[in-house]
Amino acid sequence: MNKDFDTEDCYTVEGKLALPYTYFAGRVGSSFITTIRDKKKILGVKCNACDKVFVPPRQTCEKCFEEISGNWVELKNTGEVVNFTVVRYDDRHLPRKAPFILAMIKLDGADTPMVHILEGIEADKVQAGLRVQGVFAEETTNTILDIDHFEPVRAQQKIT
Ligand SMILES: [Zn+2]
Repeated sequence: MNKDFDTEDCYTVEGKLALPYTYFAGRVGSSFITTIRDKKKILGVKCNACDKVFVPPRQTCEKCFEEISGNWVELKNTGEVVNFTVVRYDDRHLPRKAPFILAMIKLDGADTPMVHILEGIEADKVQAGLRVQGVFAEETTNTILDIDHFEPVRAQQKIT
């Protein structure tokens, strides 16, 4: 019950929607996805005015309002966990069966985090600062899931 709107004979009902949808990815979003799909590379855009690097890329800088969509920078597929959550319910629109981890991951060289699936580690072992790497999908879905997931960088593995 919402005290701002509810009265004796009229009240609000709290509900929940799960809607499949399509959207237009635009020039910037489309290039981001097709470059992951075709070249297995992750692109960001850099604002020439403030040097901020956005991943996922965007058309304008949120700070300067400069047009930045053409200023592509190629990033490594490594980065670190900024924050995370564990999804504990199943839904046909979710990319994995529960439970699974969704993490905000800031790629090396990026100033903004992207959300993606984190695998290969138990949730109680995940901490901010955990070094992770993206694993590209074998088959394309023409979505951000062309990066299949991120996983911890193994200690003996050399980052190039
Ligand atoms: Zn800027």
